[in-house]
Amino acid sequence: MPKRVESVVLHDSSTPVIGDAQRAGSVVVTSLESLISQARAHSLWPVTFGLACCAIEMMGAAGPKFDIARFGSEAFRATPRQGDVMIIAGRVSKKMAPVLRQIYDQMPEPKWVISMGACASSGGVYNNYAIVQGADQIVPVDVYVPGCPPSPDALIYGIMKLQEKIKRGRATTLSDLRLVEVNSRDIQAIEDTVTA
Ligand code: SF4
Repeated sequence: MPKRVESVVLHDSSTPVIGDAQRAGSVVVTSLESLISQARAHSLWPVTFGLACCAIEMMGAAGPKFDIARFGSEAFRATPRQGDVMIIAGRVSKKMAPVLRQIYDQMPEPKWVISMGACASSGGVYNNYAIVQGADQIVPVDVYVPGCPPSPDALIYGIMKLQEKIKRGRATTLSDLRLVEVNSRDIQAIEDTVTA
């Protein structure tokens, strides 16, 4: 089966768009799958889920000093239906574990989990009967952020690692995109391929 290729035009006011077959320009050729993974990775909306002191640092990451809006993750959602990354910030008690799982199940696919801090990742200092000794016993964890508590920039680093994982898992990264010079005949051939 022939591989379907989608094409995107990088243009400003001086370069033609893909539909302008009379003129030449630069185009980026990539797969639709790669485009989607780029969009997903750079618009991760966290589900609000602070459980203990780590949550204060998570809130700090959303504030003006650290500003995770720069990474597309400023929209903390109070409903799992609108979030795609769960940041488990704080120790998970055994009473809270079923709730955590339920919220995770209510999130739409695709979804990811960041375990923030020693307590969420391993129980931390709470090696006792009341605390789950690792959130990965309840939900699949994609990224672990170490520390007690991890600083807001450590969480941002974790989000960047998750972005890399999402892009790696789905195809290519921006550096894999090919910028090619084309003439009008090439543009016509690309349009024929796309519309075939
Ligand atoms: S890792 Fe430290 S800061 Fe985070 S919830 Fe545990 S005790 Fe609190």
